[in-house]
Amino acid sequence: MLRRHGVRLALTVMITVVMVVGGANTTPAQGTPRAIPPVSEAARAVGLIDVRSAVPDALIDLRYATSDNFVGEPLYPSNARCLVHESMAPGLTTAARILRRSNEVLVFWDCYRPHSVQQKMFDKVSNPAWVAAPGPYSRSHEAGRSVDVTLAARLPGCPKPRRVADRCRLDMGTDFDSFTPAATAYATAGVPVAAQRARARLRDAMAAGGLAVYSGEWWHFDGPGAGVRRPVIDVAPR
Ligand SMILES: [Zn+2]
Repeated sequence: MLRRHGVRLALTVMITVVMVVGGANTTPAQGTPRAIPPVSEAARAVGLIDVRSAVPDALIDLRYATSDNFVGEPLYPSNARCLVHESMAPGLTTAARILRRSNEVLVFWDCYRPHSVQQKMFDKVSNPAWVAAPGPYSRSHEAGRSVDVTLAARLPGCPKPRRVADRCRLDMGTDFDSFTPAATAYATAGVPVAAQRARARLRDAMAAGGLAVYSGEWWHFDGPGAGVRRPVIDVAPR
């Protein structure tokens, strides 16, 4: 197991060094690994990494880079990347490894979020239960220490809205940013049993990596020190 992991890591590093490819939001089909371009100087300076450095098969579906989000307009540039603080890497690697046993992969809906975007979101939904009130500090997504994720697998007859690259997002009972009681992590009312089980698999895998679910949203997970108030980061998600 360790050796296999080492080989994969070495391969990823080798490909990264050898190939120079432009940024991309979507992980390509399995078997055609794409190089991960280095993150910007500003992002690197605050410890942010591309999540695919930790989870090579991650599917990236940044909803805030599209208008398919609760604000109804893109909040990130179209070439935004999923960046996380490097402290999340070991936990995400562990979670992804566990999920591969059930042929499931992580889909990232949101990762590091610039402070100015958090402000825009709060202006739109000024309810701290759903959108964290911005303060003169960075924590959680604003510090790159929380992620919004779901699961995908190869499923026959996948409805178009749930397709991500060559996979299909599982039915988790609600969509992302569904500000409803069914979106709370342990909800049972209105959540199909299969979706409750899928949420539990996601939670268990993330917990094994030391990543804790936020009880108010089944898709939100905090990494180590996510709640600590740190200096404001407002670099572009690149
Ligand atoms: Zn979140």
